[in-house]
Amino acid sequence: MLNNQSPPRVIRVLLPTPMRRGFDYLLPADCQVQEGARVRVPFGKGSRIGLVAALDVAPQVEADKLKAIDEVLDAAPVLPAALGKLVRWAADYYLHSAGDAWQQALPVLLRQGAPASGEEGIWQLSADAAKAAVPKNASKQLAALARLQAGELSDFDLAEQSFDRATLRTLADKGLVTLSHRRQQGQPFWTSPLVVNPGPRPNSEQAVAITAINSAKGFAPFLLEGVTGSGKTEVYLSAMSETLKAGKQVLVLVPEISLTPQTLRRFQKRFEVPMALLHSGLTDKERLSVWRQARDGELGIVIGTRSAVFTPLARPGLIIVDEEHDASFKQQEGFRYHGRDLAVVRAQLEQVPLVLGSATPALESLANAQAGKYQKLTLNQRAGGASQVRFDLIDIKHQPLTAGLSPPVLAAIKAHLGRGEQVLVFLNRRGFAPTLLCHECGWIADCQRCTAYPTVHRGRQRLICHHCGSDRPLPHQCHSCGSTQLVGVGLGTEQLEVELTALFPDYKAVRIDRDATRRKGSLESALDGIRQGQYQLLIGTQMLAKGHHFPDVTLVVLLDVDGALYSADFRAAERLAQLVVQVAGRAGRANKPGRLLLQSHHPEHPLLSQLLTNGYGAFAEEALVERRQTLLPPFSAQALFRSDALKAEDAQSLLEAIGQRLQQSAPQGGWVLGPLPAPLEKRAGKYRFQLWVQYQDKKVLRQWLAPLLAELEAQPPHRRANWTLDLDPIDS
Ligand code: ADP
Ligand code: ZN
Ligand code: ZN
Repeated sequence: MLNNQSPPRVIRVLLPTPMRRGFDYLLPADCQVQEGARVRVPFGKGSRIGLVAALDVAPQVEADKLKAIDEVLDAAPVLPAALGKLVRWAADYYLHSAGDAWQQALPVLLRQGAPASGEEGIWQLSADAAKAAVPKNASKQLAALARLQAGELSDFDLAEQSFDRATLRTLADKGLVTLSHRRQQGQPFWTSPLVVNPGPRPNSEQAVAITAINSAKGFAPFLLEGVTGSGKTEVYLSAMSETLKAGKQVLVLVPEISLTPQTLRRFQKRFEVPMALLHSGLTDKERLSVWRQARDGELGIVIGTRSAVFTPLARPGLIIVDEEHDASFKQQEGFRYHGRDLAVVRAQLEQVPLVLGSATPALESLANAQAGKYQKLTLNQRAGGASQVRFDLIDIKHQPLTAGLSPPVLAAIKAHLGRGEQVLVFLNRRGFAPTLLCHECGWIADCQRCTAYPTVHRGRQRLICHHCGSDRPLPHQCHSCGSTQLVGVGLGTEQLEVELTALFPDYKAVRIDRDATRRKGSLESALDGIRQGQYQLLIGTQMLAKGHHFPDVTLVVLLDVDGALYSADFRAAERLAQLVVQVAGRAGRANKPGRLLLQSHHPEHPLLSQLLTNGYGAFAEEALVERRQTLLPPFSAQALFRSDALKAEDAQSLLEAIGQRLQQSAPQGGWVLGPLPAPLEKRAGKYRFQLWVQYQDKKVLRQWLAPLLAELEAQPPHRRANWTLDLDPIDS
């Protein structure tokens, strides 16, 4: 079959499957390929694009059973060396399929085989296109011709406009259409003069931080802790300025898409240098274009959310992670990596300084600083000179509540509004009421697909499950007794808005949550309205707590903090503390200090009072002592197996089997807990269980798990349930 002069070469290819292994293929004699290049290979009935993991391997199956690759797509590795190492490191660390990991690290078009050079195939009508050659029933071809009348089509646009290459190929063969190639290419940013506009003179704390970062050589991780308004962004800008002047690129990771435009504007004011934003609104083509420009050094600054950690850079010089404590850096499905943690590894691989900034650093990061792994830089003053926010804890035991608000809180709202100031009321629950209940018989409307109650949305007149998204019209009658006495129980932001508007009719209220800002542009216009003083009462969820600064807000009210104090989740107190500080940071300015009121039934809670009297730093120190005593992360490592199935016993028995195997190979001190039902036991029609695994040392934990994963893939206990593994889980 093959010529016998030299033995056939066998290569190992990573394919985008969940399987934690490579696949072997023959390399045809006339083919050259490098490790890290993409290849197209036959797989099942079709073909897949994979990445060459190794050359000249000893095949896992007999050589005459191997198929040959179809095509080599890259002459060189598709990712720069350090980034390729990062992806390999991540797959290995998270015990995830390497094929899936590198797939996640690439822009969609590259996963589909587009040239990494940025070269585009351009389809145009040929000069003498005569439609006569197209049969009347060839509707696809006619549609493509009609579309081309309006202008050229790029290869990258084909899928989006639902045309396929085969159709255009046919038209080209008939001479109706031509294919040409275009390559977009600019100049590296360092070949043009750099303009840096002046910023404010750094204060002494900022100067210390800036000097430390700018004099760092090679890998140097910094934890920059400073309350909102303390001038962290100014520190970033100064450090970026040095990096750009040295002709090197800056990568900035931010938690939220909605924050990126405002960060970008600030950067654009300071630097006249090409920069780009990677956000979910980009088309695949735009995304590839940013990727290529970053790789070729055309961009000085790249800003993006967690997946931007995989952006290739020609000359990396600095990595910044803003709001590093934010949970949205953790990818919660598929390849469950933590963008911040990978940024640390990337900085190490690239040998560049790294700045993790936050007003409320994650306990993990603080522990790293305590252990001397990160250098801590602290900004204590508010840079603009604004005073600190004053905290007050309101004990609401035995107090009458109106719209969830106690009399002292209502009085405070009235006083602040009366002075012409803005008030922000924060409640992390959208909708009108979290449950719908029959007043006659006690029946509660439930979600048919989840162990959860759907939320009443009065404006839309629907009952919506916030866990699976299913919705139905608001019932008018009880399903059990037929009574029409249905009442919403509990408080959501929608109801809060209605009630506050009724209580304070002379002031204008605005609500900011996912429902109120669904229309494009509505968030921006609400935020503009707040800044211009059109609204006095601001009601919102989490969305209001992040990034935006409202200098005219002088009173912030936080309802419902008790849930977090007494949660089964050991991170709940940390999250609450971060939320309190973040929300407080949104308010006030120099001449109008802010005030924060928290309502609680447990004002004596030790962590809460530590936070309010001594601040986040003191809270964090105490919380770390607690974590150390109880051997919880960051003083141990955890892994979480999750399973789901249509039948509860299937989801449970799968984890039981996994748990048994883990017990058999457990290292001394290794700890397995479960299976337990997930906090939301049934979601979208599937039952969910989880199994916790813990060990003091990360490396040993992974060595314990790794052989089991291979075994589970080869011989799963049964296939009636799915399982996933989450390493360093941050929620359950
Ligand atoms: P953070 O990122 O910590 O929230 P910023 O860098 O955005 O803080 O600073 C808050 C405000 O204070 C901004 O308006 C900024 O321009 C201003 N500011 C920061 N540093 C200084 C400084 N050294 N002198 C004067 N104003 C400053
Ligand atoms: Zn549901
Ligand atoms: Zn009833």
